[in-house]
Amino acid sequence: MSHACPNPVSAINPISRIINPMRSICLQSGSSGNAFFVEAGNVRLLFDAGIGGRRVKMRLREAGYDVNRIDALIISHEHSDHAAHAGALHRLYQIPLYLTPRTRQAIGYRLGKTFDVRHFQVGQTLDFGAVRVRTIPTTHDAVDGAAFIVEHDGKRLGIFTDLGSPTLSLFGAVRSVDAAYLESNYDPHMLRVGPYPREVQARIRGTGGHLSNAEAASLLAARETPMRWVALAHLSQHNNAPEVALRTHVEKVGADYPIHLTKRYDCIEPLCL
Ligand SMILES: [Zn+2]
Ligand SMILES: [Zn+2]
Repeated sequence: MSHACPNPVSAINPISRIINPMRSICLQSGSSGNAFFVEAGNVRLLFDAGIGGRRVKMRLREAGYDVNRIDALIISHEHSDHAAHAGALHRLYQIPLYLTPRTRQAIGYRLGKTFDVRHFQVGQTLDFGAVRVRTIPTTHDAVDGAAFIVEHDGKRLGIFTDLGSPTLSLFGAVRSVDAAYLESNYDPHMLRVGPYPREVQARIRGTGGHLSNAEAASLLAARETPMRWVALAHLSQHNNAPEVALRTHVEKVGADYPIHLTKRYDCIEPLCL
């Protein structure tokens, strides 16, 4: 199964970009840091800043992209695995920073000096020329958490992490996309017998926590047709394992469903749509 982008050289070739698909890279995902890169048309977006500038730069460069040519850094919520490096990335690479006023307040002094902040409200659509980013509310225990759908040229890519619970609006969002990075955080049995104290276990399972493998799979199973691909994201180190997540999804949606796995400490190959 290949959804890998065919020609990384096209990132610096304007002619091939015209006929290029939407390209995305999960630069890393999990409680140690999250960042997702999307190129659609001539717009390049970075979602979340949970890893440092040098790593973002290096991982993008390996895929043929220049970190200095990103049009927007969009922050989903204030938790440090998504926002710890927001200020630094914003300053270092001169990237306009998009976040909600409440998320900005919650990040507080950790953001440091800013020069170009653009506020949005969750539910609003952000326009970047022909590329639109829909923002979707989540029940995750952040002050103002958002999931995202990137739309361009009739294609839709979901960036769905730190979701809290599988709400009706989330079912709708998952149904509407062609491909997605989808949180599949924990296996309930591994969580129960794992190292976390009971309060923390309750938080993860609760409506303000994360989606289990089965909850994530139920979002996929509710679709009429499979996505072009899904990449399971934000897998817990202690309460999940790649093979367990994969098995749960395959049981719900079948072995033919194209499923990729993101990594806790590294990027994965660019995925195209
Ligand atoms: Zn997170
Ligand atoms: Zn979070």
